Amino acid sequence: MVEEKTLVAENNQQQGVAVWLTGLSGAGKTTISIPLCEKLEAMGYRVQRMDGDVVRQKLTRDLGFSKEDRDKNIERVTFVAERLVKHGVITVCAFISPYRAERQYARSEIGRFVEIFVKCPIEVCEERDVKGLYAKARAGEIKNFTGIDDPYEEPENAEMTLDTSTTTLEEEVDSIIAYLQGNGYIM
Ligand code: ADP
Repeated sequence: MVEEKTLVAENNQQQGVAVWLTGLSGAGKTTISIPLCEKLEAMGYRVQRMDGDVVRQKLTRDLGFSKEDRDKNIERVTFVAERLVKHGVITVCAFISPYRAERQYARSEIGRFVEIFVKCPIEVCEERDVKGLYAKARAGEIKNFTGIDDPYEEPENAEMTLDTSTTTLEEEVDSIIAYLQGNGYIM
């Protein structure tokens, strides 16, 4: 019984934060978020990963890719992330989130917010074309594709920028962990 109480007390010491990964499709947001969460979990933290591709199949499957729908997508995600963070969960969010104003909205709603620009030249993203979407967008089969016929507003006040065309995945994950430690978000 005492042990349980101690455990609860220990858990409650964890403060939440949103680690918000923004960048073009194929820049590396999902790829970074998975080992990042694994590492944080291995360190004993409670973590939730929220990924654009998954969220759009569940929470926001009614939405498309117009500016209005993209904004709604981020607003709903922000609503969930804010509550998770409030309850002490490290919430790793991987969303293209192309509009500065929406990222600013998420930042102001969530409060404890670390914005990470997952930067990668579009030529490299297009070469990777992980999901074959760039080819479809170039062929005109997909409209409103970020970086092709839809805007991406680069962050101006991101806490970190990671250029995935020049850095290794391991370095990226380590540098995020180091940032979180260096700024008191984790021990
Ligand atoms: P996003 O989630 O941003 O759309 P993904 O993570 O799905 O992007 O895809 C990124 C692709 O880039 C993956 O195929 C990944 O293996 C590759 N990649 C190559 N180098 C890196 C790196 N240094 N960091 C992250 N991803 C990388």
